[in-house]
Amino acid sequence: LPLPAPRRIRALAQDVVNKIAAGEIIVAPEHALKELIENAVDAGSTSLEVVVKDGGLKLLQITDNGHGIDKEDLAILCERFTTSKLKAFEDLSSIGTYGFRGEALASISHIAHLSVTTRTKESSCAWRAHYSDGKLVSPKPGQSAEPKPIAGRGGTQITVEDLFYNVPSRRRAFRSASEEYAKILDMVARYAVHCAGVSFSCKKHGASTADISVPTAAGTLDRIRQIHKATVANELVTLNAENERWGFKCEGWISSANYSAKRTTLLLFINHRSVESSIIKKAVEQTYATFLPKGGRPFVYLSLDIEPARVDVNVHPTKREVHFLNEDEIIAIICDEIRNSLSKVDTSRSFMTQS
Ligand code: ADP
Ligand code: MG
Repeated sequence: LPLPAPRRIRALAQDVVNKIAAGEIIVAPEHALKELIENAVDAGSTSLEVVVKDGGLKLLQITDNGHGIDKEDLAILCERFTTSKLKAFEDLSSIGTYGFRGEALASISHIAHLSVTTRTKESSCAWRAHYSDGKLVSPKPGQSAEPKPIAGRGGTQITVEDLFYNVPSRRRAFRSASEEYAKILDMVARYAVHCAGVSFSCKKHGASTADISVPTAAGTLDRIRQIHKATVANELVTLNAENERWGFKCEGWISSANYSAKRTTLLLFINHRSVESSIIKKAVEQTYATFLPKGGRPFVYLSLDIEPARVDVNVHPTKREVHFLNEDEIIAIICDEIRNSLSKVDTSRSFMTQS
């Protein structure tokens, strides 16, 4: 049989490429929200309010009081690889963030209706702009796409509506809005614990009370108490570890041997970004295993500062897991410190019961 003629290779249309890329980065509403929270925190905000409708699929809105966005920058705000945070490739490793390099807002604008209201200190009014596929668009047919002046406070409000409206396969993958809302609450809770000096609230659209609410002045332990309740907070001790050779520093709050839950709660921040690490989780669980009743699991909040050059920032954006140099050595030091801390608490208890 004659071989079939080869099919000609063609480039996909750019908007198709962008949509595919965006759908790979933003898999669920919580991922969009994480980027928006990080942007708000990066902007120096001390107040952050989140409003959610239908698990974030209908509406995700985040209002901050940060430095705002210059009106002149609004035209390129949602273009891919536009950022105020890095200028050269060499900066990639020193920036302390990973995954996104001016891609978050661009990605969101390809798979949702995105609008921004923002006001800087220098501006006499706020500006409102709407985006689609990385570009400014007019909110209604016949209107201009140019940002419009409106009244508003200092800071930025980002509104994301109808997430995945143009990715039906992704949209169908969501079973329940309440499941997505639970993941959103979990993400807000992580940052609310970590970001001392920033107030957080998160509520459903139209609800009168917030599901998460922490004031600006609350310290870390108070934040954990408000979000994870006193049963956890009352059993926590601080953790500190540091090593110059491996270029890291770690602070945190960890449950004592008196606390035991069915599942591990691990709030892990590396260079102030919430990340996942199955290696760290496993090592922590193993360390606790000898101190807790069978099947018991700890609560652990760890904030790790690692020399940015040692953190792998070039992992593909879809990978929520982060890797860094000398992982094994660093984890061993942290787990040693946990072990020390747990045995210390143990001795003081037995000492108290003896006396
Ligand atoms: P990146 O955060 O990697 O720079 P993003 O797409 O998340 O990329 O944001 C692009 C740019 O938009 C940021 O660099 C920042 O200048 C600006 N920006 C986004 N959100 C905010 C915000 N809430 N407040 C002030 N500036 C913001
Ligand atoms: Mg960002």
